[in-house]
Amino acid sequence: MDAGYNGRHREIGKTMKIIENNILPPKGYKAITLLNCIFVRRGVKLADTNLRHEAIHWEQEKELLIVGFYLLYIAEFLLALLCLRNWHKAYRSITFEREAYDYQDAWFYLEARKHYTWTRYIRHKSI
Ligand SMILES: [Zn+2]
Repeated sequence: MDAGYNGRHREIGKTMKIIENNILPPKGYKAITLLNCIFVRRGVKLADTNLRHEAIHWEQEKELLIVGFYLLYIAEFLLALLCLRNWHKAYRSITFEREAYDYQDAWFYLEARKHYTWTRYIRHKSI
């Protein structure tokens, strides 16, 4: 883990690992979170906003015992892709992504966040 990330965002650095590699994430994406690991391409430095976004996903994963998160994420994406017929719009419409994008700039969010906040986005598709 890059020590610089710890200094910039201690809270995330304590619970997540940043793994630099040459494969993940796919091109066009800044980072991808799998379990408590944030994968970034070698040499890419993440801003606090990116780290917070991925940390929100980690909270969502834990709330759904990890497997549930990925099953819902993929199901929601495929359904949205079928309806919207647009990869990016489908990705951005995923409940988990909407919460993460809405709060990735809120430095206080991870401490203030209530469990299962992402469920609000199911009930209110246009939040
Ligand atoms: Zn995301």
